[in-house]
Amino acid sequence: MGWNRKVLRVNLAEGTCTPEPLNMQWADEYLGSRGLATKYLVSETDPKVDPLSPDNKMIMATGPLTGTMASTGGRYTVVTKGPLTGAIACSNSGGFFGAEMKFAGWDMVIFEGRSPTPVYLFIENERAELRDASYLWGRSCWETEESIRAQHQDPLIRVSSIGRAGENQVMFACIVNDLHRAAGRSGVGAVMGSKNLKAVAIRGTKGVSGIRDFPGFVRATSEAKKVLAGNPVTSEGLPKFGTQVLMNVINEMGALPTRNHRDVQFEDASKISAEAMHEKRPSDGKPQLVTNAACFGCTIACGRISAIDKTHFTVKNNPKYWGASGGLEYEAAWALGAANGVGDLEALQYANLLCNEQGMDPISFGATVGAAMELYETGVLTKERIGLDAPFGSAEALAKLAEMTATGEGFGKEIGLGSKRLCEKYGHPELSMSVKGQEFPAYDSRGIQGMGLAYATSNRGACHLRGYTVASEVLGVPVKTDPHVIEGKAELVKAFQDATAVFDSAGICVFTSFAWTLADVQPQIAAACDGDWSMDKLATVGERIWNVERQFNNAAGLGAQDDNLPPRLTSEPAKSGPAKGMVNRLAEMLPEYYGVRGWTAEGTPTPETLSRLGLS
Ligand code: SF4
Repeated sequence: MGWNRKVLRVNLAEGTCTPEPLNMQWADEYLGSRGLATKYLVSETDPKVDPLSPDNKMIMATGPLTGTMASTGGRYTVVTKGPLTGAIACSNSGGFFGAEMKFAGWDMVIFEGRSPTPVYLFIENERAELRDASYLWGRSCWETEESIRAQHQDPLIRVSSIGRAGENQVMFACIVNDLHRAAGRSGVGAVMGSKNLKAVAIRGTKGVSGIRDFPGFVRATSEAKKVLAGNPVTSEGLPKFGTQVLMNVINEMGALPTRNHRDVQFEDASKISAEAMHEKRPSDGKPQLVTNAACFGCTIACGRISAIDKTHFTVKNNPKYWGASGGLEYEAAWALGAANGVGDLEALQYANLLCNEQGMDPISFGATVGAAMELYETGVLTKERIGLDAPFGSAEALAKLAEMTATGEGFGKEIGLGSKRLCEKYGHPELSMSVKGQEFPAYDSRGIQGMGLAYATSNRGACHLRGYTVASEVLGVPVKTDPHVIEGKAELVKAFQDATAVFDSAGICVFTSFAWTLADVQPQIAAACDGDWSMDKLATVGERIWNVERQFNNAAGLGAQDDNLPPRLTSEPAKSGPAKGMVNRLAEMLPEYYGVRGWTAEGTPTPETLSRLGLS
């Protein structure tokens, strides 16, 4: 059956934990994880709710493949209304926490209300209780994991927690599990902090039962693993270089946003690349990269474990950061590096460690620093206001601002607003490189046209993981398309968006899509789950999920006016590289996209579309 058929409802105001059956009709319509949690959220929450009020709900959910032998089947999702964007927020994470939730017998945990005092949720199989977390408040994610395990005298407990950023309601605070895996985007950690919920700690010993056709599932997952093993990206590129393999590639094609998107190529890209992480340092003769790492059940192992240079100015007096830890991945290396013009690999890893330690999304943090540096260079922000010199390229400023934001000190509070609110506050909203208030990831859409459309229409604000057309436009997966043309991009974006909704909802990692298409995922879902899970049905489920997210956003007050890009990307041509002279042509692609989606010119699903998807 794939599901445990059990939901835990936690009322934080009343201090109650109540089991209830999973709505199996919704499971049949929304699959699990992202899709199913979204259905619960939109059915129970006013779209106009203040994201940081007790009336907002926050849902942690697994998918039917989470915890199984499917490769990468360890994902879980956090769904809520996001404070950074005012839109639906849906962030997923790897590591081991999601599988542990499944092993404890739960598909989903719904949090409602706000606890009067700090608490953490402790789940041990069917037992669930809220416990005092006063002693954990003010502690980092790393300290919280360690303290909870020590408290329960059980090193096998898996923990998801917020650090000081979530407590302080930094708008891009994330929820960290397994030390360096995170439900990273849209400020889901701030929602958790607003509920006085410090952590969720789970110990599950039940394994996964109820796979519908176990021999068929073994066959399907084995076949799919062979596909990953036979693909050069998932069997060689990602394990050896991680997602960082993209740094030099994207730079060469002139799509590496640099200095707050002023430029599209970074002269120091090679210094912060995957190859640089493999190079031995003059100081100690060791490379920054220690090893690769895998999340639960993953046969790709793209994760990076690195050790910072102990003599580097950021850590030389702080041995706490000398051990091997998570990072750098491509997005973090870009946001902390090229986006700010910083080419110091060790400084990037230091800022990345602080993001993991205190629970901040490194993409939004780094991009917000980039906006602050541009405000500084144009004289809008001063040394007196920030508390330090902050020109583009300053590793010292990056490191100090990471410390200040993580702890809520001085100007760090303003960085914690995110770039949209920061730039609005100082009178330059056009300098926020964001969509719906969420900062761009690491692809400049002047050189990759489809990504501009994908960013503009992403339901959770600018995001590469909602419709990764880079796969097609850059890597030729599953078919090569020209990144500079707009023809066919509306269909391409829709196809990626709908398919990704299925990958996410199944409980697997979207990085499998470098090798897998939906046709590789379908047999695994069909063998695991009761019911009809044909390709046609999965395509419909993906489209349904996309539209139900859109309905929530429309009801929250977001519409066509929010499907936009900053003027820099649509009116300031790229200055160098193969895309020199180009801008993103969103205005031409968007009407076509609405048509392909079956939406009105105002960006709302038509009655026919809603009826076709069973949403009317
Ligand atoms: S591909 Fe990377 S991020 Fe995805 S599950 Fe595997 S190790 Fe985790």
